[in-house]
Amino acid sequence: MARRVSIFGATGSVGQNTIDLIARDRESYDIIALTGGANVEQLAADARRLGAQVAVTAFEDRLGELRDALAGSGVEAAAGETALLEAADRPADWVMSAIVGAAGLAPGIHTLRHGGILALANKESLVTAGPLLTAEARAHGATILPVDSEHSGVFQALTGERIEDVERVIITASGGAFRDWPLEALEHATPDQASNHPNWDMGQRITIDSASMFNKSMELIETKEFFGIAPDRIEVLIHPESLVHALVGFRDGALMAHVGPPDMRHAIGYALHWPERRALPVERLDLAQIGQLTFAAPDETRWPALRLAREVMATGGLAGTAFTAAKERALDAFIERRIGFSAMARVVEETLARLSSASGLGSDTITLDNVARMDHLARITADEIIAQAG
Ligand code: NDP
Repeated sequence: MARRVSIFGATGSVGQNTIDLIARDRESYDIIALTGGANVEQLAADARRLGAQVAVTAFEDRLGELRDALAGSGVEAAAGETALLEAADRPADWVMSAIVGAAGLAPGIHTLRHGGILALANKESLVTAGPLLTAEARAHGATILPVDSEHSGVFQALTGERIEDVERVIITASGGAFRDWPLEALEHATPDQASNHPNWDMGQRITIDSASMFNKSMELIETKEFFGIAPDRIEVLIHPESLVHALVGFRDGALMAHVGPPDMRHAIGYALHWPERRALPVERLDLAQIGQLTFAAPDETRWPALRLAREVMATGGLAGTAFTAAKERALDAFIERRIGFSAMARVVEETLARLSSASGLGSDTITLDNVARMDHLARITADEIIAQAG
């Protein structure tokens, strides 16, 4: 029987890689929903090609365009946040969560309510509300599988192991676009320069987050939330080649490394076929030709986002929500050239500082309402700080 599949964020980098894999074995899948944002043309083309039940754009003002593009195809067209949630409510066996940003949280939670597998690329949902997602999965017998390459690597290294035997988890970071830049030059780095990743071909936002290391800082928190590993056992290692994605250290001193090409179709394909392994169209590494792999400790002066992630994990509660929201506003401001590259970390740090006393940041009560309230508060606070900085 064909497997029912939905892809949230289908028009993005992860979404398109997912479609690439599914389109190679079209008969095995029934496409329930495809969602996108502004790229209505791509969304409609893929929905037609794959015969989706419904195509949803997140933006209501694009509905007319989507309808026109789907005319005569038999694919339903819908738009807006409610339509995204309705698409998530349609039962599916496997759902890809690849919307960018905290906007991915609510569709992910709705998906978990009908069980099945949620393949989670959208790291922001775990950072902003990890305990909510895991509780929802538990309550409905759903499975969350990691799609971030580092977390897929950790997951694979942990298969067949006991979590009590894990001494440490190491996730690697390429160092992004500015790894070798002089520190003083970072202040003047432009969005175009930050959007150029040395190894991975990804969406613009995550690429800039890689240069600022906010991506890795979210992944630190993601590791804690996903695997329940204590923050002091999670390390970041700079690895410019991006071939070793993660390592798990066990109590007997063994280190199990996950090594593979920087191609998201590996982690996506692993989650798609889990618990089986199937052939994937990814490059096979020739280690003799590669010759050497290099590693270094990260410099927290260059990348203050790593220190901020540690503070967020120590605070707990809704600190991850505030962190994600403030980071998103700071990133918007950087892309729109309202603040400089290094100011992004300052905006996030100052937002967390202002919210720490007033707003129950470390409160343990994590509900969708509390998350929405803190998200809103952090965005307003970050916007004030950005306005003062600009
Ligand atoms: P992209 O920017 O390439 O794609 C994002 C997707 O989300 C697009 O489909 C976009 O639509 C859609 N979207 C944008 N804004 C909204 C919104 N407000 N509501 C609903 N949908 C929206 O991102 P990536 O594919 O690079 O990343 C997706 C997620 O996966 C992120 O959380 C990222 O951190 C994570 N990830 C990405 C990796 C990668 O290799 N790219 C690796 C590991 C994790 P449209 O383009 O039509 O506007």
